Amino acid sequence: FSRLKESLTKTRQTFIEKIDQVVTGRKGIDEELYEELEEVLIQADVGVNTAMKLVERVRKGVKARNVQEASRLKDIFYEELAYLMGEKVTPIQENAEGPTVIMVVGVNGVGKTTTIGKMAYQYKEQGKKVLLAAGDTFRAAAIDQLEIWAQRVGVDIIKHQEGSDPGAVAYDAVHAARSRNVDVLLIDTAGRLHNKSNLMDELRKVHRIIAREMPGAPHEVLLVLDATTGQNALNQAKIFSEAVNVTGIALTKLDGTAKGGVVTAIVTEMAIPVKLIGIGERMDDLRPFNPKDFIDALYG
Ligand code: GDP
Repeated sequence: FSRLKESLTKTRQTFIEKIDQVVTGRKGIDEELYEELEEVLIQADVGVNTAMKLVERVRKGVKARNVQEASRLKDIFYEELAYLMGEKVTPIQENAEGPTVIMVVGVNGVGKTTTIGKMAYQYKEQGKKVLLAAGDTFRAAAIDQLEIWAQRVGVDIIKHQEGSDPGAVAYDAVHAARSRNVDVLLIDTAGRLHNKSNLMDELRKVHRIIAREMPGAPHEVLLVLDATTGQNALNQAKIFSEAVNVTGIALTKLDGTAKGGVVTAIVTEMAIPVKLIGIGERMDDLRPFNPKDFIDALYG
């Protein structure tokens, strides 16, 4: 928890501490205060829709509780934020009858490879047999990077040459996972966004091949989003979920960004659960997302 708290320092400064500043020195609660609160939320990357929704809830909360003092606004805000975020923790799905196949998608640079590496490490620590698949055949560097992670963690990797068919990698990986009695297969995919429709076709095809070769798979399509891109992350979520059935989100780089407020926007505006958060470069800096812990860490 203390590590989570520490990683959210910058977000706390732009979000919670700014609310403090808005409230401090104020006597009553007036329209101007609500406007300033909304402004703080938008600046903190909560997003316009969610900011408006939150302020509306705070306004109602203030009325219902007949609160007069501005100093109590922060408590009401906490309650409403907690209400909107919910308490649900949604774990990564597992396949009890064989390998759990996890397809990982996302734009280049968001932290896809690192997230796969951290997941591989954590599953291995749990005593599971892990296999990686280098499905981003578009970039030689992506294959190399994943191989470095495979070596670091001590797991096997299925890879083909640069420029080869990513569908063939997925095919081989699924069959290898079964024949080698693997518990978790993590499939990397390409993330070049300069040719969007081409990429989405490729992801659809990889998904189709996985599903054809192993009914019920992929058990998870994990979309990796970079918290430092703020509202842009929401656009990416929309684009990817139109192409493949995204079942969960991993939100990376929450440490060191002031844009952690975007978590609130993703949780309230997307129908896809945030399952994992990345809070640093260490192997154990990938955590299950627990909204309650997140808010408590944010409030300090
Ligand atoms: P990919 O192109 O999506 O595969 O991205 P990479 O996995 O190569 O990550 C891009 C950069 O982000 C690397 O320098 C990673 O170390 C860094 N990174 C990934 N996740 C996190 C995180 O949770 N926190 C921090 N601080 N850096 C991260």
